[in-house]
Amino acid sequence: MSKERIIFCDFDGTITVNDNIVAIMKHFKPEGWDKIVDDVIAQRVSIREGVGAMFALLPTARKKEVVDYAIGNAVIRDGFKEFVAYCREQGIKLLITSGGIDFFIYPLLAAFDIPREHIYCNASSFEGNTIEILWPNACDDQCTNDCGMCKTSIIRSYDAERYERIIIGDSITDFEGAKLVDTIFARSHLIDRCEQLGYPYYAFDTFFDIMKQLEAEPVL
Ligand SMILES: [Mg+2]
Ligand SMILES: [Zn+2]
Repeated sequence: MSKERIIFCDFDGTITVNDNIVAIMKHFKPEGWDKIVDDVIAQRVSIREGVGAMFALLPTARKKEVVDYAIGNAVIRDGFKEFVAYCREQGIKLLITSGGIDFFIYPLLAAFDIPREHIYCNASSFEGNTIEILWPNACDDQCTNDCGMCKTSIIRSYDAERYERIIIGDSITDFEGAKLVDTIFARSHLIDRCEQLGYPYYAFDTFFDIMKQLEAEPVL
């Protein structure tokens, strides 16, 4: 019996052309955001801490501006619409596993036929004076990275014996997940990481490239 294909697809820099959190910070430039980014890159603080601290710099009074900017600024990568349709036709389970935030992820994905329960991302609260990020998908007991939205916890919850697991991503945060799966589709920093460690991967530029490769490869 062949395995069931399941895809774990990143959002920022993968489904969208650019990283939306970085775009928000670069646009609103809250005092101190760049130092937090440096700390995250240098791994002095975890991704969860860093993202939480950056949004805590933005006043909730500017909610509408922040949300409108994030949604208006994002560009969806070519072929994504067709890719969602392809997965549905082929019976491939497509999960969106994103370290992004609900207030831009759900509106940007609303145009596509993806069930809400297949979208994993961080949440947000605008109740206080500054934006608070909430973490409904935290790390399980096997992950010590304090991811915020833990991709490896989700991937591990799908049995490798039953599923052919496929990851699509662009950055360092996808790399831990990439180590677990059967097939990696990579762009940008994720390519560099795969190269450094000798992991096989398929480079992609559009979702048409991914469909072509999935078609060419028999299901495990
Ligand atoms: Mg990304
Ligand atoms: Zn984790």
